[in-house]
Amino acid sequence: MKRLLARWVFPVDQPPIERGVVEIVDGVISDVAPLNGQPDADTTDLGDVAIIPGLVNAHAHLEFSSLDSPIEPALPFTGWIGRLLAHRRERTSSLSQFIHAGVREVATSGTSLVGDIVTGDWSPDCVPGDGASMVAFRELIGLLPDQSAAQLDLAKQHIADCRAVEKTEQRILLPAISPHAPYSVSPELFHELIDLARTEAVPLCIHLAETQAELQLLESGTGEFFDMLTRFDLWRDGTIPKGTRPMDYLQPLAKLPHALIAHGNYLADDEIDFLANRPNIATVFCPRTHAFFGHANHPWERLLDAGATVCIGTDGRSSNPDYSLWAELKFLARSSAADRMPQILDAGTLRGATALGQAKKTGTITLGKRADLTVISLNESTANDPWMALFATKSKPVTTIVMGSEIETPRS
Ligand SMILES: [Zn+2]
Repeated sequence: MKRLLARWVFPVDQPPIERGVVEIVDGVISDVAPLNGQPDADTTDLGDVAIIPGLVNAHAHLEFSSLDSPIEPALPFTGWIGRLLAHRRERTSSLSQFIHAGVREVATSGTSLVGDIVTGDWSPDCVPGDGASMVAFRELIGLLPDQSAAQLDLAKQHIADCRAVEKTEQRILLPAISPHAPYSVSPELFHELIDLARTEAVPLCIHLAETQAELQLLESGTGEFFDMLTRFDLWRDGTIPKGTRPMDYLQPLAKLPHALIAHGNYLADDEIDFLANRPNIATVFCPRTHAFFGHANHPWERLLDAGATVCIGTDGRSSNPDYSLWAELKFLARSSAADRMPQILDAGTLRGATALGQAKKTGTITLGKRADLTVISLNESTANDPWMALFATKSKPVTTIVMGSEIETPRS
């Protein structure tokens, strides 16, 4: 048994607890309460820190962990994609090394659960046996009709491979699938993958409403995506019916238990209304990637106010300087009204766990859940308000606890 005492405990499903104690038995939370009297011999006083639920990064591309800085220039978007593909072709280390480094960075920066998009010759062996838990989304790409069967087989094999690991090893690695985007997956393949996600009960993620160029391709079959796809000989007349909108992709997602749309930067009003009534479809906002591409304001506050599920991701180091979800939350808190702070922490923990189908097991500091916790140093913040102290300029993760085991973060 372990009892951890903190200046503040943020359970997320209840208000912050001053001088709170979290008790852990066998990797599971067995109690959370204010300190009663003096700390006993079993209680470790962590001092001037907050304990929050382990952070959940709902959208990452860990294969880009070796990049020191984002790939520039960011625009035009199809040019950026070209540079990304060139990087993938030219890098020399093994995919396994990139994933190991990515998982390590995620775990040492406060994240206990990550939704990673996996590609190429990824296999469960690429993932280290410790560190953050992972939901592995197999990326699927196929715009031409003759590509669909192989992609469907790949998806099925991925689900089987991850499930085989689940049964044999002491780590959490769960399968999921990701039809990449409307400009890279035919509507037919998209629907087949939705059926697969429903049958297999796995989460499904699609990049959607990410750029105005994507909306233009769907609406009229023109623009920079048309040019790129024509160049690669991937575009055929009628591949996507004219007048298609993100709504046409949202509607089929409604029948899934756990669907994620990455970005959703350009959702229309009726699409936001649609998501408001469908908490099973989460929008993953990636704040610093959003800023990198210079997009128009993200509708995350409108989505939240409407009652939709919003969670947070880092995306890849290809568009972001690191994989720190805490840096995303602080970036967002800095530019938000004070009353948004509880929602920002909720988005970075419980909503991420919800989107990844793990809310029963993690995402809040609640009796019976896994002891997935992040210890945040408050660095002597003088703020009396717990939220101001939590999101103060100098606050930072110092320890990540995954299933009761501690992972130290770098001290620098
Ligand atoms: Zn992405």
